[in-house]
Amino acid sequence: MLRIENLHAEIDGKPILKGLTLSVNAGEIHAIMGPNGAGKSTLGYVLGGRPGYEVTEGSITFDGQDLLELEPHERAAAGVFLGFQYPVEIPGVSNVQFLRESLNAQRAVRSEKPLSGGEFLKLAREEAKKLDMDAEMLKRPVNVGFSGGEKKRNEMVQMGIIDPKFAILDETDSGLDIDALRIVGDGINRIMRQPTKAVLLITHYQRLLDYVKPDFVHVLADGRITRSGGAELAHQLEREGYAEIAA
Ligand code: ADP
Ligand code: MG
Ligand code: MG
Repeated sequence: MLRIENLHAEIDGKPILKGLTLSVNAGEIHAIMGPNGAGKSTLGYVLGGRPGYEVTEGSITFDGQDLLELEPHERAAAGVFLGFQYPVEIPGVSNVQFLRESLNAQRAVRSEKPLSGGEFLKLAREEAKKLDMDAEMLKRPVNVGFSGGEKKRNEMVQMGIIDPKFAILDETDSGLDIDALRIVGDGINRIMRQPTKAVLLITHYQRLLDYVKPDFVHVLADGRITRSGGAELAHQLEREGYAEIAA
């Protein structure tokens, strides 16, 4: 599904990703772990197509097409979803407006007919309920005044509504209490653990991986993948730290 080859990327002329190679097949969940500043969020942004992140070498193909050729909205319509480490607040735009616009814009690119207000609201309410989020929060401006954990849960509601093919989830577990962690973990499994889908799960901690079992774990250090293994690698990292293992 996703093939990243020798990816080099820089921000403001500063090299951040330095030859990253990674392949993800349909049906797989890959965890990316690594020290602060390693380039994990940068990888997410490059996949999402965020402006300012310049790819200087290497390639990314998604379902056989050159992902780097696509605009951010075209990537979204192709099924790529990016859950942010720091979800943005959008004052003046309600969650429902934002989500309905996003979903219908993506449907338009795929020549699917837009959902009506009523159809959309039903879908959004169902999804909020599954993630144990108060439906009232759907009416509030996007993420404004939400706690850290509420923002992360809101991201999962977005993901459930968008129903992407490939999700990059950047520290979705940060700010979650134990109960929320389980609900979000269950949500990721329910929405994304399917033979036609795949996930890149960026996390610092093993604890999310107790709920969302990764098929592969990779260490990202200094802009490249330095180590790959199975779920046991995450336990080893938790025990021994990155310094020993990532170098
Ligand atoms: P991680 O998510 O692994 O903690 P990031 O991808 O956020 O790491 O950051 C990787 C490196 O890029 C860090 O050294 C960070 O300071 C740097 N960086 C990120 N954004 C910018 C920016 N806008 N301008 C300059 N450097 C940046
Ligand atoms: Mg970080
Ligand atoms: Mg980060």
